[in-house]
Amino acid sequence: MADRFYTPQPLGGGSFVLDGPEAHHLAVVRRFVPGDRVTLFNGDGKDYPALILSADKRTVLLDVHAGVVVDRELPVRVEIAAALPKGDRGDFLIEKLTELGMAKFTPLVTNRTVVQPKDGRRERFQRAVIEASKQCGRAVLMEVGLPAEWTEYVRASWLPAERWVFHTTAPNLFPHPFWKGDAGSHIVLAVGPEGGFTDEEIAAAVAGGWRVGSLGPRVLRVETAAVAAAAVLAVNSLAGSASPGPL
Ligand code: SAH
Repeated sequence: MADRFYTPQPLGGGSFVLDGPEAHHLAVVRRFVPGDRVTLFNGDGKDYPALILSADKRTVLLDVHAGVVVDRELPVRVEIAAALPKGDRGDFLIEKLTELGMAKFTPLVTNRTVVQPKDGRRERFQRAVIEASKQCGRAVLMEVGLPAEWTEYVRASWLPAERWVFHTTAPNLFPHPFWKGDAGSHIVLAVGPEGGFTDEEIAAAVAGGWRVGSLGPRVLRVETAAVAAAAVLAVNSLAGSASPGPL
């Protein structure tokens, strides 16, 4: 699983030149040499077996075989929207949400948001998605959305019917026992900043048809709350489906 390398380029059969940081990683860090076999992916849902023909520090020439469909996506489309935690905890969050099969992450700007999502952060997060995907075998990249203002996000017209916001004082536990969403359904889960959502922000969500859920009787960090909720869906949504198959 670790011998996967990413390119944003279209991949088909035939010769292909890999350059940039992935070429450096392949040839210098991982020390692959001509004759070795690796896997390329570009986020289109397939893995492309490839033979290394030549490799130097900057450019790797490969003979790429036909793509093989890799199905490691969840049967439901789950989007997580969360206020960004500080420092490295944001990268941790992105890595874990990618591993757990989330379809999209949207950084939220709320009343008590401390960490403002900046442009450079988005690129860094996209890089973290690629690294996590290489490692966990995902062939579809988690999308990193543009920052969204909570008050606008809660009433967006595209929102699916299934939408939950997490709040420490919510009376009802998320999820209903063994709730897993319907196959093909779309679910949005929202987590507030370290200071929590304001009462007005929760009221706006309720008015917009959101359900308010608890994740238990302890105050979780933003990234813990998001990862815990994602994990519920990542495992429960597969219940009853055919064996997920070996890696
Ligand atoms: N003092 C704040 C703590 C916020 S924790 C408050 O009481 O609201 C950061 C975010 O994580 C919260 O806004 C919420 O979305 C989520 N969260 C943390 N612990 C939670 C819990 N036990 N139940 C539901 N959501 C929780």
